[in-house]
Amino acid sequence: MKIYLNGKFVDKEDAKISVYDHGLLYGDGVFEGIRAYDGVVFKLKEHIDRLYDSAKSITLEIPMSKEEMEKIVIETLRVNNLKDAYIRLVVTRGVGDLGLDPRKCKTPTIFCITEPMNPLLGEDGIRVITASVRRLPVDVLNPAVKSLNYLNSVLAKIQANYAGVDEAFLLDAEGYVAEGTGDNIFVVKNGVIKTPPVSSSVLRGITRDTVIDLARELGYEVVEERLTLHELYVADEVFITGTAAEIVPVVEIDGRKINDGKIGEITKKLREKFKEVRTKLGTKIYE
Ligand code: PMP
Repeated sequence: MKIYLNGKFVDKEDAKISVYDHGLLYGDGVFEGIRAYDGVVFKLKEHIDRLYDSAKSITLEIPMSKEEMEKIVIETLRVNNLKDAYIRLVVTRGVGDLGLDPRKCKTPTIFCITEPMNPLLGEDGIRVITASVRRLPVDVLNPAVKSLNYLNSVLAKIQANYAGVDEAFLLDAEGYVAEGTGDNIFVVKNGVIKTPPVSSSVLRGITRDTVIDLARELGYEVVEERLTLHELYVADEVFITGTAAEIVPVVEIDGRKINDGKIGEITKKLREKFKEVRTKLGTKIYE
């Protein structure tokens, strides 16, 4: 497997960065997780736009155009002869000294890892707990910025692990439902689909946006509004969305069964629709 690293393709064993890189020392950097399905990079432009927005928000200037960045993703997939893949695209502040001042970092570190990954969409629902650790408030470190600092999510995941369940949901600072450790949350009640707004400390997921569009195309009402845990507990259906997860039904939250522990009808319909469009919305790797 070849990895793109600062302008070169290198073997995995040789893909090394400095211990003085501020991406490592301070989590000072941004990234994207992207999928390719059957030779199409899913919503590549949207991912690149989000990467550049994250970078701008932390005043990290990426020294290339968005088009060049797209080419790096496509080229890495081509070099590795991949059609179905998970892609990790990372831009860090670069090498500096041991102080955290980003002005000492002259050149961003850029790398792109691609790994084979087959389409998932398994049928199994997951069990979830609410984490006691809250999602970062928007005025502390806005979750809309996909930064390398994922300790908030990692701590929530550790709680899920100790509880013996698959995932943890985080509340925002005010106690409203925010998101999972690497995914957005949706509920269905009486045929209406709801998801927390971006102001509730969530990343604007590319899958989230896709699911909102698909649901509306299917004729469902979709509302972005603040949700309480109570609304999750009594929902007809709950599911999560994310690049890696795609659309996954949630069958239990804090011990409360959702839809008798079975995947819901609307969740099922959205998964079918997503499966249908995932090879159509994006950029072709091989012309
Ligand atoms: N929230 C968080 C914290 C995430 O890490 C992710 C994964 N990128 C998501 C939501 C889902 O976003 P997307 O659909 O763009 O993968």
